[in-house]
Amino acid sequence: MTKNITDYTLDPDDWDSARQLAHRMLDDMFDHLSTVGDRPAWTAPPQEVHDALAEPTPRDGAPLQEVYASFKKNVLPYSTGNQHPAFFGWVMGNGTVTGMLADMLASGMNPHLAGYDQTAPVVERQVIRWFSELLGFPADSSGIFVSGCTMANLNALSVARCAKAGFDVRTEGLSSGPRLTVYGCAETHNWIIKACELMGLGSKAFRAVPCKDDHSIDIDACRALIQSDLEAGLRPFCVLGTVGAVNTGAIDDISGLRRIADEFDLWLHVDGAFGSLAALSPLSQKLVATQSLADSLAFDLHKWGYQPYDIGCVLVRDHDAHKAAFAQSASYISSMQRGPAIDSTYFADRGLQLSRSFRALKAWMLLKETGADKLGALIQQNIDLAQYLALRVDEEPQLERLAAAPLNIVCLRYRAPSMNEAELESLNREILFSIQESGEALPSHTMINGQFAIRAAITNHRTRKSDIDHLISLLLRFGSTLASG
Ligand SMILES: *Cc1c(COP(=O)(O)O)cnc(C)c1O
Repeated sequence: MTKNITDYTLDPDDWDSARQLAHRMLDDMFDHLSTVGDRPAWTAPPQEVHDALAEPTPRDGAPLQEVYASFKKNVLPYSTGNQHPAFFGWVMGNGTVTGMLADMLASGMNPHLAGYDQTAPVVERQVIRWFSELLGFPADSSGIFVSGCTMANLNALSVARCAKAGFDVRTEGLSSGPRLTVYGCAETHNWIIKACELMGLGSKAFRAVPCKDDHSIDIDACRALIQSDLEAGLRPFCVLGTVGAVNTGAIDDISGLRRIADEFDLWLHVDGAFGSLAALSPLSQKLVATQSLADSLAFDLHKWGYQPYDIGCVLVRDHDAHKAAFAQSASYISSMQRGPAIDSTYFADRGLQLSRSFRALKAWMLLKETGADKLGALIQQNIDLAQYLALRVDEEPQLERLAAAPLNIVCLRYRAPSMNEAELESLNREILFSIQESGEALPSHTMINGQFAIRAAITNHRTRKSDIDHLISLLLRFGSTLASG
């Protein structure tokens, strides 16, 4: 019987040739990154690429060389474009060489970040401390790295629910108490809908408060809505603020929300997905300084931290509250007095995931190599470029701005005085498609007060003033051609 036991392994048969191929991959990625601006910002994958990727399930393997060749030919050239200097779409990060290397090192080491007293959790704890300090939270705040801000915000909302529901949601479930509600500006990112649905609160639990003209939350309307919900027997548990809203970069009045939270004994969570990091720039710090008043704060490092996907983080001021939302006891993962299971920061008690990757390594390397000050200078550079874009738009009679641009996002459209709203929308859609398909720049789109907007969000360390000038010239060129066509 035992003589039939095989000797398979996934280590390379030939370490030397695997090493050679790995060096080639690294060289290719350096070529790819150092020439990213020489290629179109975006290229649609042709049908033959779709066909090549629609392969039957591989039953037999192939040499890594062949697999890699397919990646290089069919996958790599067709990214969303977010590495390109003229990419301004959505809110995407661009990645860095060090971030790429950090991901490789993290996977090479492959620690299991549930916790335990190895070095990797110590690094994660340290980076959480650094970011706590940089963003105005107490240095000993609790926190955890997660995949992104959707998950970071969900984590925080779960903590808020445990802390402020007023009944034992974890044991008894939602049906044992009144209906829970959470308040935020109507411009809140749609993570809140996903979170309310997933947490069993129902999407109606999110009470969308009207925005003011600057797209930030109307504090008086928020208070009035909470008051009337209380009278109707609902149980408000949380108010949300956003610093850097996704459509326009709007910044909520966090001090006002703090007062409401204190008045009604609610949790205050701040979604700072990209905006939080403006705190690193001495010139812009004041815009987001009040985020330090929050009970919890979520932010991404794959947006304005420029890191490769994916990495987000949540900070929670109160350690006990954080743990109270997630901690479990199970004999097979309990801490021991000695050995690798010795008691330490147990990250699995701060979130949903048990097995976790060493995401924190790229954050650690980012801060150690770049330093917080240069990171702040890069963020300010993006804000300055966005302000320059807003100015250029304001100066062009053919262009109009559709929203205030307090941070790094500019929403605009091409003007054509003879056109009605529907015609303007279809014109601007065509302008957007034409720019994107030209591969020369990549803005995205949104709706502002019911009007279709071409939107440029600048979280790009490769963008230069000339890229902004080129975007303006593309808008004017395609705009005048399409408006007269
Ligand atoms: C991007 C974004 C999110 C969602 O974050 P992910 O990292 O994409 O999950 C939430 N809120 C705001 C304001 C965002 O910009």
